[in-house]
Amino acid sequence: MVKRNPNLAKLQSGYLFPEIEKRKKEFISKNPNAKIISLGIGDTTEPITPRIVKGLSKAVSDLGTKEGYGGYGAEQGLSELREKIAAKLYNGLIQGNEVFVSDGAKPDTGRLQVLFGNKVTIAVQDPSYPVYVDSSVILGQTGNYNEKSTNFDGIEYMKCNPQNDFFPDLANTKRTDLIFFCNPNNPTGAVATKEQLQQLVDFARKNKSIIIYDSAYSQFISDENLPRSIYEVEGAKDVAIEISSFSKSIGFTGVRLGLTIIPNQLKYEDGTQVRKDWNRIMTTIFNGASNIVQHGGLAALDNAGLKEMKQTVSYYLENARIIRKTLEKLGYEIYGGVNSPYIWTRIPGKNSWKAFEEILNQAHIVTTPGVGFGPSGEGFIRFSAFGHREDIKEAVKRIEEHLK
Ligand code: PLP
Repeated sequence: MVKRNPNLAKLQSGYLFPEIEKRKKEFISKNPNAKIISLGIGDTTEPITPRIVKGLSKAVSDLGTKEGYGGYGAEQGLSELREKIAAKLYNGLIQGNEVFVSDGAKPDTGRLQVLFGNKVTIAVQDPSYPVYVDSSVILGQTGNYNEKSTNFDGIEYMKCNPQNDFFPDLANTKRTDLIFFCNPNNPTGAVATKEQLQQLVDFARKNKSIIIYDSAYSQFISDENLPRSIYEVEGAKDVAIEISSFSKSIGFTGVRLGLTIIPNQLKYEDGTQVRKDWNRIMTTIFNGASNIVQHGGLAALDNAGLKEMKQTVSYYLENARIIRKTLEKLGYEIYGGVNSPYIWTRIPGKNSWKAFEEILNQAHIVTTPGVGFGPSGEGFIRFSAFGHREDIKEAVKRIEEHLK
């Protein structure tokens, strides 16, 4: 028989959402009549808006005609879409040929690991979206898991907590080849200022590192003073790759559309363009995003589509405001939820799983235990603002009633 990839046996955080599901099922079996509201997983709930549906439908109909049919497309994406992303989402900060359209930010994260291989060292925000650590573990970049400290000995964990305004202490961060940075952050909802991002870019430049900047939630930044892209910061094009997504801003979590930007001037130490290798990876192990979906993306970036995108994002931000307001009223310590769909909070004296259980048992609401996002998440829980308004209103009513 074939030997198992030993790195797969090292995966830890893959247990988070199955464990939540397991506990939810146990709760339901004991309380079959309970009406559970899920504010756990960050999945969108609202229908795709008319202009974008029209873009998708037209692309489907066109495929049924001789004139409109198209087979394989450019692996990098439709050039019209690449140009439009550069112009409309990045205000011309980057060029169309630096944009690679894909089936999502998560698969791009996995492919980036393939690009860099298993000899690189990595740093991650702690807490952070588990895919950065997990995909590094699979490739074998991370050393071994330490049960006691609940971390991998080969990863540099950059602690992000209320004491440091959820921005890592770079003066005490070890140099690594890659730095994963998610902004707005999942799970804390924190958003870095331009000055903070400048510090990060300067740190990467000094250390000759590459930042992998995940801006999957950038459309949720409504404060004009906060940067939506790392390329708003001086010098970023020499050291940063940006991954982004249409999942949360237009409800494409199931439709699948994302992008990665590799600036032309980003180079390896031997002077080779990183973009050139990314092009090779994308043409070799990815064959381009669905043409139907890309037309949905194009529709989302015309004037009517952009207006709809704003409405969708505002809907979830209003949900976040409602949750925040309630928690605030009850005196909870809360973070995020202003320029982000995630609210990060804690119940004094309770660890993450205890708090999760209490909210489930008392209010019949599913949240996500913060510890599942890294050791510094212990003690916290994450509320997601993705949900129907009526569910959010019911949820906050229950919170007020049971979690005073
Ligand atoms: N990046 C972050 C930080 C996320 O939270 C998520 C999804 O929850 C993703 C990426 C996944 O994006 P996509 O649906 O485009 O794969």
